[in-house]
Amino acid sequence: MTSTHPLTAARTPARRREVLISGASIAGPALAFWLNRYGYAVTVVEKAAALRSGGYPVDVRGTALEVVRRMGILPQLRDAHVDLRRLTFLDADGGTVASVDPHAVAGSVAGQDLEVRRGDLTEALYGAVRDDVEFLFDDCVETLDQSGHGVDVTFRGGGRRTFDMVFGADGLHSRTRESLFGPEEQFHRYLGYCFAGFTLRNTFGLSHEVMMWNTPGRAAALYAVGDSDEVHALLTFAQPEAPDSFGAFRDPRAQRDLVAATFADAGWEVPGMLAALRDADDLFTDVVSQIRMPRWSSGRVALLGDAAYAPSFLTGQGSSLALVGAYMLAASLADRDAAAGFAAYEHGTRGFVTLNQDQIGEGDAPLFPTTARGLQRRNDMLRGLRAATVPSAEARPAHAALTLPPPRPGQPG
Ligand SMILES: Cc1cc2nc3c(=O)[nH]c(=O)nc-3n(C[C@H](O)[C@H](O)[C@H](O)COP(=O)(O)OP(=O)(O)OC[C@H]3O[C@@H](n4cnc5c(N)ncnc54)[C@H](O)[C@@H]3O)c2cc1C
Repeated sequence: MTSTHPLTAARTPARRREVLISGASIAGPALAFWLNRYGYAVTVVEKAAALRSGGYPVDVRGTALEVVRRMGILPQLRDAHVDLRRLTFLDADGGTVASVDPHAVAGSVAGQDLEVRRGDLTEALYGAVRDDVEFLFDDCVETLDQSGHGVDVTFRGGGRRTFDMVFGADGLHSRTRESLFGPEEQFHRYLGYCFAGFTLRNTFGLSHEVMMWNTPGRAAALYAVGDSDEVHALLTFAQPEAPDSFGAFRDPRAQRDLVAATFADAGWEVPGMLAALRDADDLFTDVVSQIRMPRWSSGRVALLGDAAYAPSFLTGQGSSLALVGAYMLAASLADRDAAAGFAAYEHGTRGFVTLNQDQIGEGDAPLFPTTARGLQRRNDMLRGLRAATVPSAEARPAHAALTLPPPRPGQPG
């Protein structure tokens, strides 16, 4: 511990402030990058044994594009862009309703906005920091104690260390949030849908495209990233109340049964998808929800990304909020202490977060109508898009609603 005696302090060079980040997906490595640039000594702890590769595609749009440009990884991400070319909507019998340009539906900008596998984004972020930052894989925080001068941390692997600050970038079901603010239920906003995602063999001949089958309240999508041998399957269904058996960490068998029962009479390729779901070893299921918190920090600990403000995959903005939040949090701490820095982070970022979270309300996801009338309206809209042959609709203003403060002198960008 550095002495705090004024005379001693005057003679010793300033100690690098030491921080711990929990979670090495998107928000965590992005925050590590910027805090390292601002002079912090950064440790990242990740519960998985290694970086999680592959995964479903995520979007990097609007303000978040500027974050990755300033990090120097934009060219790498452009190379990883999955370049989805077609989005085809099917009716109950598998007949084509409309086949449209994906940008027109997503409100993204062709030639600018990016869609990359989540693992490719994580890989690029990690590559930008791994030589400068300490990574601890296969471990996690057991306890956080802020009663002393810093944050005393014990790790599940047995380690004990003290940090100046700790950050929770550990996702929607954040342990950091729970240990700081209590149970997730208080901050959880259920959006009226559940989903099951998994991969299966691409026996459909799909390439660079999404096929989506709908009936009111049900959607089955096959997502072909490039010409891969595998496709991502996503089964989404409306449920007015969140089912008890559903959600992360719950009973997988009950979840499989609920999905199978919900889609039992479905047409098109859904019976084959249900058969694949039974054997899938990468199945993940959850309720579709947002995290909304009145405060993102407590003492010397702050949250970011899905842990603090998950917007849900229905907005397609989770990765972008994680990247922008990381940039804003680090910039706020560049020359401030924890209390002032966390206040500046919230002040500068909350409006952008709320605007993007508000893109979606309960049970009203445009791609997943829950009534026959709603589905009819959506299909009419899609046919109109096709007729107009527009390559891209207007970008959603919410995606670029925040102008980043400039990086500090000497920073890239
Ligand atoms: C099916 C699906 C589709 C999606 N589609 C899109 C999309 O099209 N566009 C988009 O932008 N976003 C999409 N998202 C959302 C996007 O994946 C998230 O918003 C984004 O990954 C958030 O990043 P994050 O770093 O905050 O959290 P996460 O990516 O959830 O990462 C959390 C990390 O913390 C680790 N961790 C968890 N607990 C602990 C612990 N106790 N200790 C240490 N480490 C821990 C995890 O292993 C993980 O590496 C989708 C999500 C899902 C589920």
